[in-house]
Amino acid sequence: MSLQINPVLCRAGVMDNYAYVIVDEQTGTGAVVDASEAEPVIKKCQELQLHPQYIFTTHHHFDHVGGNKILKEKYGLKIIGPQAEKELIDGLDIGIKDGDEFLFGASPVKVISAAGHTRGHVLWYFSDDKTLFTGDVLFNLCIGGIFEGTSAQMWDSLQKIKALPDETLFYPGHEYTQHGLTDAVRHNGAETMAAYVQRMQTRFAQNLPVAPVTLGLEKQCNPYLQINDKKIFEQCF
Ligand code: ZN
Ligand code: FE
Repeated sequence: MSLQINPVLCRAGVMDNYAYVIVDEQTGTGAVVDASEAEPVIKKCQELQLHPQYIFTTHHHFDHVGGNKILKEKYGLKIIGPQAEKELIDGLDIGIKDGDEFLFGASPVKVISAAGHTRGHVLWYFSDDKTLFTGDVLFNLCIGGIFEGTSAQMWDSLQKIKALPDETLFYPGHEYTQHGLTDAVRHNGAETMAAYVQRMQTRFAQNLPVAPVTLGLEKQCNPYLQINDKKIFEQCF
């Protein structure tokens, strides 16, 4: 594993966003995934004595870009995000699109487009570490709302996630596990959900995110990943 991932809870108790301060350990290169707010991110960077060079933005919503401006001024970093949302992401420096690949330090990154929540939403996939940042597409036990796209697009986006290796660890844009839990237990039964519930309780007791869990576990427990028919999925909305 060469990517160090530090979750930073933002807008705590209100929207419970996660920004992630990440470090490519081989080169020491730092970045922020979805800078929801500047202040808690700066605090984390100070703790780590890290000067981040990039922000990876999943989509344009304010709770995912709210810290961009201040962080750019403070660190002179580059904001990388979906070209399709260029007009909506202030200060975007590098616009990316589906299938783009590049190196973050020594870590290969792949851009996976995932419309539905917003029209240009992207996922950030760090293939060497099998690490996926899912923004507001996939949360623990639930999925993001469909605001700009269609349920058909959201379905396609979820199929892309399901096609990644089961051992992939995913990091969502919000702590919404509790929101998804009731439906997931109703859908799967308490026995199937036992390991997930156990993890949630253990992590919350330590003030830690439920993430990361593997896509393999998520597929067993997240009702939205268990629907195998696009028509039935579309009827959910
Ligand atoms: Zn959003
Ligand atoms: Fe959000």
